[in-house]
Amino acid sequence: MAYETTNPYTGKVVKRFDEISDKDLEAKLKQANDCFENDWRHRSFADRKAIIGKAATLMREQQQHFAELMTLEMGKLIKESTGEVGLVANILSYYAEHAEKFLAPEKLSTERGDAVVESSPIGVLFGVEPWNFPFYQLVRFAAPNLMAGNVVMVKHASIVPQCALAFEKLFADAGAPAGAYTNLFISKDQVTKVIDDDRIRAVALTGSEGAGAIVAERAGKNLKKSTLELGGSDAFIVLEDADLDKAVKHAVAGRMGNAGQACTASKRMIVVDAMADKFLEKFKAAMEGFKPGDPMDKETTLAPLSSAGALKALQEQVDEAVAHGAKVLIGGKRVEGQAGNFMQPTILTDIAKDNPTYHQEFFGPVAMFFRVKDEAAAIALANDSPFGLGGSVFTQDLERGKRVARGIDTGMVFINSAAVSTPDLPFGGVKNSGYGRELSAMGIQEFVNKKLIRVA
Ligand code: NAP
Repeated sequence: MAYETTNPYTGKVVKRFDEISDKDLEAKLKQANDCFENDWRHRSFADRKAIIGKAATLMREQQQHFAELMTLEMGKLIKESTGEVGLVANILSYYAEHAEKFLAPEKLSTERGDAVVESSPIGVLFGVEPWNFPFYQLVRFAAPNLMAGNVVMVKHASIVPQCALAFEKLFADAGAPAGAYTNLFISKDQVTKVIDDDRIRAVALTGSEGAGAIVAERAGKNLKKSTLELGGSDAFIVLEDADLDKAVKHAVAGRMGNAGQACTASKRMIVVDAMADKFLEKFKAAMEGFKPGDPMDKETTLAPLSSAGALKALQEQVDEAVAHGAKVLIGGKRVEGQAGNFMQPTILTDIAKDNPTYHQEFFGPVAMFFRVKDEAAAIALANDSPFGLGGSVFTQDLERGKRVARGIDTGMVFINSAAVSTPDLPFGGVKNSGYGRELSAMGIQEFVNKKLIRVA
């Protein structure tokens, strides 16, 4: 499949890029491996810091340019794109600043002799990344690994090719040697070839369960480590002692941010009986307030979905939910009389356990609402999911919030807020949401060799 920019607001194809030939792919693999072996792995932290820090500066200086590229290619609101560029620059700065400390040798006191564990890079890494946060997804993989001394090759999603090229150029402009960061416009067959290649030492994928299973299986066959950041259907629990207005505000932001196309979006509103009617009334009113329009316009509040295919898939999923007994409180259809891939903000209720969509992820502005008896029922419902990415709990009793958080089987739980991502918080899940962590001090440890050196 070709790599193509199609404006999600106008439906117009803006630019196409061909996939590279196997010969060109081989040249890029060789260049990356040569860069690792002869250059990048030998550089000091200070040298790498200067380059990654420069990339952060360039990102900030060209914030508008990077933001407009994202909005053009996948349709997110321009103010969200601007925010993403700021976060990406902060992640670059964070690893530039802290990598050396995170990877400092660890002295061990042993009974006989001295021992130390040193962290060394492992080689050329391959990342497969999704379109929903076109630069944030890339930086989570690239920044820690480049600072650790690995080099990275990336296959980005086929609908955001200009973002993919812009990120490669960013590192070249910052002074990184050729081969340190390589963008690959490759086919799915070539993805397999890359994973099989001896020069590739490990693989990271962020995306759907389907793609994750294929890529991780191939990595496993080659005895290569992988990390997977997959989908989620995060529970948003509101207990009877919650601050209602705050809960509603975060529920709306958590569900509607990025037009609902976030893995850690608040997808399942689980509200205890005593709060349910009040919550639903306010949540509904707020969800009805979104206005579709040009995502480049700062006044627009509802962005189009990333592609016509994404809108069609979401509409079919809502229809399936309804066919199996779910009720549509608001929305449920695409926005009529409006160009672009717009889905109405939607609230689904009465989703029974035998509804096939009960266990699915809705990747767009569609909230599932569940009323439960009490805290225990809320936790049980939160855990009745194949996913285990994030989740939120709203209560004014923080000890209670922590207790509920411990009961939820996910990689992240946020008390009194929707999910957030900052450079210093680990990001990742359990169950079908994947394995491994990105960001924070943990994210830089995934693809390094923890080498024991012991002197007898
Ligand atoms: P996707 O189809 O899995 O695409 C993600 C990446 O995988 C793209 O680069 C895609 O390439 C590639 N890909 C797809 N099928 C492949 C295959 N058979 N072999 C090799 N590569 C393949 O994911 P999506 O539907 O676009 O993205 C949404 C999903 O990602 C949601 O489930 C969301 O929750 C999840 N997600 C998770 C996180 C997290 O951190 N946990 C973050 C964001 C999104 P093409 O574009 O060329 O198809």
